[in-house]
Amino acid sequence: MLDAPEARVSMRGVRKSFFGNEVLHGVDFEVRAGQVHGLVGHNGAGKSTLMKVLGGLYSDYRGEVFLDGQRAPLTSPGEALRLGVAVIYQEFALIPHLDVAANLALGHEPRTRGGRIDRVKMRHSAQELLTRLGFSVAPNALVGELSVAGQQLTEIAKALSREASVLVMDEPTARLAPAERETLFAVTRRLAAQGTAVVYISHFLQEVLEICDTVTVLRDGTVAASRPADRFTLSELSRVIVGDKPADAGDARLAGAEGTPAPPVGAAPVVLRLDEFGPLGREPSNLSLRAGEILGVAGLVGSGRTSLVEAICGARRANGVLKLDGVPARFRSPADALKAGVVLVPEDRKNRGLVLVRPVGENIALSDLPRHSALGLVRAAGLKAKVRAAMERFDIRAAEGAGTQASALSGGNQQKVLLARAAATGPKVLVLDQPTAGVDVGAKAEIYRHIRALAKTGVACLVVSDELEELLTLCQRVAIVSEGRVVQEHSAASLTPGELLALMSVKEGA
Ligand code: ADP
Ligand code: MG
Repeated sequence: MLDAPEARVSMRGVRKSFFGNEVLHGVDFEVRAGQVHGLVGHNGAGKSTLMKVLGGLYSDYRGEVFLDGQRAPLTSPGEALRLGVAVIYQEFALIPHLDVAANLALGHEPRTRGGRIDRVKMRHSAQELLTRLGFSVAPNALVGELSVAGQQLTEIAKALSREASVLVMDEPTARLAPAERETLFAVTRRLAAQGTAVVYISHFLQEVLEICDTVTVLRDGTVAASRPADRFTLSELSRVIVGDKPADAGDARLAGAEGTPAPPVGAAPVVLRLDEFGPLGREPSNLSLRAGEILGVAGLVGSGRTSLVEAICGARRANGVLKLDGVPARFRSPADALKAGVVLVPEDRKNRGLVLVRPVGENIALSDLPRHSALGLVRAAGLKAKVRAAMERFDIRAAEGAGTQASALSGGNQQKVLLARAAATGPKVLVLDQPTAGVDVGAKAEIYRHIRALAKTGVACLVVSDELEELLTLCQRVAIVSEGRVVQEHSAASLTPGELLALMSVKEGA
């Protein structure tokens, strides 16, 4: 190619901090007209923040942004739109109780001579736009009643109705079904063919390699690589994202601060077995979990990991057979499951796990209270001793001991309270959803130690986590979930984080 055309978007040395904490460390990023540019990286790598800078959401970034070679002051969303940049954020910005046409026209509605909104004209232009784009969305449908795909298409139509020549889509397919994804791909390709510069953020790496011309990898707020898509293989791309070194990645992992993977459990008895079992409306899975085993559950956001574990724990309606110690069990509620020995430590400990306004001691004893209150006061002393022992065993640091309000604890200590409570029920199966989310490195290692200790006593553990390192160091085996179903199982020792990511990133049916 002679003289490459001027980049439509050129971001140079972009830095952005939140409360003094820099999360973009001088990022260079270019997108050309007619190009689909993939932007990938782990959660927290800075993809959305970089695109929010481009969308004019932050006026306090440093560095420069050029549009068609002209310096562009991107200091407000309105300014960005005026310059032809439309960003569809992860969090939709549509108004659910208005119809599609009203959402498309929002802020520049056509008016009648009398100054009122011209609904006929509004519907008409909406229909025209949707037809031109080939979107099958009705202009008079309420946005709140559309499918996720319908809302996504409405967002895209809205962006394009503003004559955007740069279109950013932040994880557009995470919540779409395969057929809907195909529609979106077709639309994306068509827009690029018509000269739009498209930025496409997705965790589905295979999809990214198929649909994008160029791919840029962000890692910890810096560009780790940027190349034409055909110069990446799926495994190379995965490796760059996690920062694996090509050769001795496995060794580096074993030498990590979090210790070596747990030893295999061999022929311990199977505690939990799923026979064609799964959340209602999803494909079923088969899976066995042995006493003392720690099994990781891996999958991208939206892969249905949480619905699967909720089905196992009685928090979601299920199909198929779940066997506990070889006996079929049916849980109608989490309380049912708890009674049978299947205990969930939920992901969202602030809203679903702890009673923040109550003391630590009560939180630990919570699952256990009915048993004690049956005998009333007589057991109160026993309960107190139990709580004290649990706090010691899990090394829970609380300024005022068992009487400290749970909200006053650090994230790591809150998580240990939940572990202590779960352990107090004498579980057979412990399901941990994101057990170290939001806790610091030191607390993480401690939580791993406690989970391993519980497993050593014969508890079978299922760990759902976004952190690939965590899955590979804490667990002996990893099950990969896609569309709510276990699609593969691997021994943790056989995988590097990059390899695991590559396996997770293949969307079924894609
Ligand atoms: P990605 O989209 O790649 O997952 P983000 O751009 O959302 O990553 O986040 C990059 C980093 O910036 C993360 O560490 C995140 O916690 C932080 N961050 C993002 N938005 C905010 C915010 N509004 N306030 C504070 N920190 C933020
Ligand atoms: Mg993001």
